[in-house]
Amino acid sequence: MQFDWHYAFSLLFNSDFWHAVGTVVELSLATWVLGIVLGFLLALARQSPKRLLNRSAALYIWFFRSLPLLVLLIFVYNLPQVFPGTSVVLSNPFAAGLIALVLSEAAYIAEIHRGGLLAVAKGQLEAGKALGIGYGGVQRLIVIPQALRVALPTLANEYITIVKLTSLVSVISLSEILLVGQQLYTQNFLVMETMLAVAFYYVLIVTVFSFLLQRLERHLDVSQRKPKGVADSRAEIADVEPVQPAQAGAKALRVQGAGKHYGQLEVLKDIDLEVSFGEVVSIIGPSGSGKTTLIRTLNGLEGLDRGSVELCGQPFLRGTLETGAALGNRVHLDGIVQVGMVFQNFNLFPHKTVLDNVLLAPRHHGHASDAQLRALGLALLSKVGLREHAGKYPHQLSGGQQQRVAIARALAMRPKVMLFDEPTSALDPELVGDVLKVIEDLAREGMTMIIVTHEMKFAFQVSDRVVFMESGKIVQAGSPRDLLDNRSERMGRFLKDAQLA
Ligand code: ADP
Ligand code: MG
Repeated sequence: MQFDWHYAFSLLFNSDFWHAVGTVVELSLATWVLGIVLGFLLALARQSPKRLLNRSAALYIWFFRSLPLLVLLIFVYNLPQVFPGTSVVLSNPFAAGLIALVLSEAAYIAEIHRGGLLAVAKGQLEAGKALGIGYGGVQRLIVIPQALRVALPTLANEYITIVKLTSLVSVISLSEILLVGQQLYTQNFLVMETMLAVAFYYVLIVTVFSFLLQRLERHLDVSQRKPKGVADSRAEIADVEPVQPAQAGAKALRVQGAGKHYGQLEVLKDIDLEVSFGEVVSIIGPSGSGKTTLIRTLNGLEGLDRGSVELCGQPFLRGTLETGAALGNRVHLDGIVQVGMVFQNFNLFPHKTVLDNVLLAPRHHGHASDAQLRALGLALLSKVGLREHAGKYPHQLSGGQQQRVAIARALAMRPKVMLFDEPTSALDPELVGDVLKVIEDLAREGMTMIIVTHEMKFAFQVSDRVVFMESGKIVQAGSPRDLLDNRSERMGRFLKDAQLA
C-alpha cells in the first residue's frame, strides 16, 4: 500500500481546511465562553439556599450530563421539524451546533465552577459582608476572581475537550475540519493521508490554545506576582483626622436582651451591653463562652433570635423571634458600613494588593474620588506602619502585618464602632505587640471599640470597661480597677489561669 506523502503535505495548504480551522476555533471559543458564563450561573443556583433554584440547577446538570452530545446535536438541528418557528436560528448548523454544545458544556462547567466556589473560604464572604458589600458585589469583586483562578486549569482542560467535540458537529453538516476531510476522501479514497491532515489541524489548535491558556494561568497566579510599585509622593498622603465625633446623648451601640441558639445550644443568654462613643470595651472569658458569637451578631454576621441592637441611637438589628416590623435590608447595610470588623484570621483578599484591599470597600461604595481614596488608603497604611508595603500582596506579608492591613481596611470605611475578634490569637508571640500597639493608638484617638481578647494585660490596660462572659452570659462587668478589686471567685480563677493575677 502506498502512502501519498506529497498529497498529505499539500493538504496543509488547503484553503477549505484553513477555513474549517477558523470555524472550529470560533465555535469552540464561543462554546467555552458561553459555557463558562451559563455554567457559573448554574453553579450559583446549585448553591442557593432557595430549594426551587438549586433543584432546577441540579436537574439541568443531571439531564445534560446524561445526554450524549451526538443525540443532542441531532435533536437540536431537527427541532424545526416540530417547531417550524425555530428554523430561523436552527437551520444554520453553526448556530444549532453552538446551542447544543453550550447546553451540554454548561452542565459540565457548572460542576467545575462549583469546585472553585467551594474553594473560596467562608471568611472571604464574611469580610465582604462586614464591609457592607451586598451579594452581587461580593460575588463580582471577591468570589468570582478567586473561584475562576482555582477553576482555570480545569476550565482550560475543558476547552481542549470542546475543540475535539466540535468534530461531532460534522453530523449536522457544519463544514468543520472532520467534514472537510470526509468530503475529500470520499472523492479520492486517500483516507489515511486526509486523516493525517485532519489530525494535524486539531493538534495545532490544541497546542496553540494550551500555550495561550498557560500564559493566562500564569498571569492570574497571585503567588507568582511581584509587588506592584506604588508611587511615593508625600503630597498624596492625606491626614487622617482623628476618629468620629461623639453624638450627644446617643450611645454608640446598645444591645438589649440579645439571645441566640445554635440548635439546642443556647449561646447567648439575655445580653445587655451599652457602649458610649469613645469607649473601649474588652470582652474576656473562657473558650466557648460566646464571645465570638456576640461580636459577630453586632454587625449582623450572625442573626439574633431575641433582643435588639441600636447603632448611634437608631434601630440596627432585631431578633428573628421579636415582634414588630422587619427592619429591612437597607437598615442593615446602612448600619454595617458604620461598624468595622477585624477577624481572628485577617480574611484579607488574596487577589488584591494591600492598598486595593484597603480601598475595595470605599471604592465600591463610591465614598470619594479615586485620588482622594488613594490618599486616604496610603495615610491609613502609614498609620499602621505599612506604607512601604502598599503594593504587596497579602501572602507577601507576615501575619502581624496582614492583621494591621485588616485594621486599615476596616478603618477606611470610617466606621463609628470597631469590633475585634481575638485579633492577635492567630499570630506568633513576637508579632502580637505591633498589632496591639495599633489598637492602643486607636483607643487613644477616641475610637469606639469592642475587643474580644485573650491578652489580659492589654485588655486591662487599654479598656475603659472589661466584660467577663461565661456560658453565654455576662457574669461581671466594670472598669478594670473595679473588676480587679471586686473579682468574683470564678473570674479570679479565670484570671489566675490567664496569669494576670
Ligand atoms: P468563644 O468565642 O467565647 O470561644 P463562641 O462564640 O465561638 O465562643 O462559641 C460559643 C458556643 O457556640 C460554643 O459552644 C461553640 O461550640 C458554639 N458555636 C459557635 N459557632 C457555632 C456554629 N456556627 N454552629 C453551632 N455551634 C456553634
Ligand atoms: Mg472566639
